[in-house]
Amino acid sequence: MSETEVDLEAEMYEKHREAGEILSKVREETAERVEVGASHLEIAEYAEDRIRELGGKPAFPVNISIDEEAAHATPSIDDESTFGEEMINLDIGVHIDGWLADTAITVDLSGNPELAEAPEQALQAAIDVIEPGVETGDIGAEIEDVIDGYGYNPVVNLTGHGLGHWEQHTSPNIPNRAVSQGTTLETGDVVAIEPFATDGGGKVTEGSSEEIFSLEREGSVRNRQAREALEQITGDFRTLPFATRWLETGRPEVALRRLKRNNIVHGYPVLKEDEGCLVSQKEHTIIVTEDGCEVTTK
Ligand code: MN
Ligand code: MN
Repeated sequence: MSETEVDLEAEMYEKHREAGEILSKVREETAERVEVGASHLEIAEYAEDRIRELGGKPAFPVNISIDEEAAHATPSIDDESTFGEEMINLDIGVHIDGWLADTAITVDLSGNPELAEAPEQALQAAIDVIEPGVETGDIGAEIEDVIDGYGYNPVVNLTGHGLGHWEQHTSPNIPNRAVSQGTTLETGDVVAIEPFATDGGGKVTEGSSEEIFSLEREGSVRNRQAREALEQITGDFRTLPFATRWLETGRPEVALRRLKRNNIVHGYPVLKEDEGCLVSQKEHTIIVTEDGCEVTTK
């Protein structure tokens, strides 16, 4: 590697770490504010504002998943929902110049502390086996083992993933069960590990509501609102996911409908557990090191 490449690489890890540091702080501060009666929209905006205050940017809209929801739920512009006695997953991301950190935590107000604890312990077991050369399927086996030991099922069609520059999901997939993929992690890999546990069957499917979107391809549109939205998307979010409520143009729903119809953006429907059962989650971002791994979102 040239000297410039070495410098760029050092800068990349520095930014991953900085994003992780901001994110762990915001995760803890946000989780503390989740209580019966608190507003979803206020919690999401609190976390996203706090990320900016600390010098980062949200890498994607704060996901607030309730009970059977597993991912891709975020408050709408005029959301009036409040928390009840529910299982609540907060999934939050930060980026510094496109270098990401991704983390999640379950706050249990439903009276199922063991279900909330299972993915936490599973994640710890996964982190314990990570070192250069570890097979992703062996990480999945650790996760499945721990969750199974609690008497629950891992959600098998959601996985951990690599984190790329301005890309939330890159290869490799890190499965949440023992499935051999012939893929290994190597020194320097930056990945998110995210076990999900459920008292249901262990599969999620797409629901109908969509509040999170991302750019699919460059393109042009005539409609004024759609054009304004597209300028903001390509300028600020680039290829990272964004929420309807982040768009500054008038009538953002209209703008998004146009952009979707032209296949310029695509939506992420809310993912729900198939049988309507509870889902819990825990996630950390890690960097694989020569003798193990470093958790950036500790
Ligand atoms: Mn996440
Ligand atoms: Mn993730």
